[in-house]
Formats: sequence, C-alpha cells, structure tokens
Amino acid sequence: MTKEELKKYLLELGVSTNVEVFENLLKDTLTTNEKFNLTAIKDEDSFRELMVYDSLLPLSFFNFDDKKVLDVGTGAGYPGLPLAVSSKGEFTLLDSTKKKIDHINEYVKSNDIKNVVGVNARAEDFVKTHREEFDIVIARAVSSLNILLELCLPLVKVGGVFIAMKGAKGNEEIEQSKRALACLDAEIVEIQEATLPISREKRINIVIKKKSSTNKKYPREYKDIVNKPL
Ligand code: SAM
Repeated sequence: MTKEELKKYLLELGVSTNVEVFENLLKDTLTTNEKFNLTAIKDEDSFRELMVYDSLLPLSFFNFDDKKVLDVGTGAGYPGLPLAVSSKGEFTLLDSTKKKIDHINEYVKSNDIKNVVGVNARAEDFVKTHREEFDIVIARAVSSLNILLELCLPLVKVGGVFIAMKGAKGNEEIEQSKRALACLDAEIVEIQEATLPISREKRINIVIKKKSSTNKKYPREYKDIVNKPL
C-alpha cells in the first residue's frame, strides 16, 4: 500500500488523520527493526497496510476521544501508536518486553507525542495496581480470545469495553469464549468484519462490554489462565 493508497483507503473508512505522521513512524520502526527485531513486517508497503491501516480499523466504528485506553501486548506500539496520534484518547502501551517499551518511550518523547506512555509489565501484574482503570482495553495478536478476556477485562471500568483485534479465526474464538464471557459477566456488543484492501486478509474486531465489576479471583495465576482457560 503506497502512502496515497493509505490516504484514500482511510478516507473510505471515514478515518481522518495525517498520513505523513505514519511515514515517520514507518521509517523509525523499520530502521529500529534491524537492531531490535521489533516486528516481523519488513517492507514499507506491507507496513502501511498491516501496521497502520489495520491498527486504525477500530476508529471507523469506535470513538477513542477523551477515553483512557490501554493497549495490552503492544509490541512495537500497535495498534496503540497509530490510534493515539489519530485521536484524543490518553494511551498506555503495555508490553512485557522492556526493549520494545524503551523504544516506544524514546519515540514519543522525541516526536512530542503527549498522549502516550509506555509501560513495561505483564498484564497479569499490571492489573494489581490498575484494576478497572480503563475505558477501553485493546489487544492485537497477543493470545486467544478466552485467555485475553481473563487478562484484559479486569483492567476495564464497569461499562467500558475490551476490543479484541482478530484475524480470520475470530469467529471460532468467539465460539470458544462463551464460558469466559459468562464467568466474567461480559457480552459481545459489536463485531467489525473487514477485508484488508490489498492483501485481502480478513479481520474480525470484537467489542466486548463489561457489565459488572470483575470477581477478584480473576485474573488467576498465568499458568492457570493458559493451561485451564475459562
Ligand atoms: N500488538 C502488537 C502487534 O499487533 O504488532 C504485538 C504483537 S506480538 C505478536 C505480542 C506481544 O505481546 C509481544 O510483544 C509480547 O511481549 C506481548 N505479551 C504477550 N503476553 C503478554 C502479557 N501477558 N502482558 C504483556 N505483554 C504481553
């Protein structure tokens, strides 16, 4: 996807943002990638489609302005960085890998991006001090939906949402998450199905609303979350 195509496809989605900002982000991520292996995407055209356009899909159906947002397992800053520079939300970007968070914090400082802070921690530890603090928690390519629900919903305010950004297997994962949704008293309120314009990859973004305060027994220890998913 060229820069002009990115602009055109974002306009078609109804997302207005300054695509020049992403050219800078693209150069930074791809250059740093050579040193730190931040992402598997190595060429500019794929980066624009798979890292920028894909990250911005939720903006076409969800308003992030004035919201407190947490991106769990942000990696090199996706979807959090593109969403932050295209909205007026307050973003915390969380990842368990320190070099990735150090890089994000350097990037936002040197580019004067004021609505982003990177935090190096695991979600299951971070929740101990930030329980039910966020209007929106979002995660892309981190884990299966049933596991993510237990990790992420305790961080969401009552009445807030968790957005799981999924690929073609999203609907299967929904089927496997019925019990987790019931245990955590949450419900799917919206599903965005999209096809990326050039690669034709399928995307299923799932919006889950938290209906009541999460029982303090969740999240369980990480080994239980993963080995005995709800
Ligand atoms: N979201 C990014 C993207 O779409 O490009 C990165 C995806 S990468 C495949 C998964 C990231 O999740 C890794 O950077 C990993 O360090 C992080 N991660 C996995 N489990 C985590 C946890 N429990 N808490 C915080 N970060 C986690």
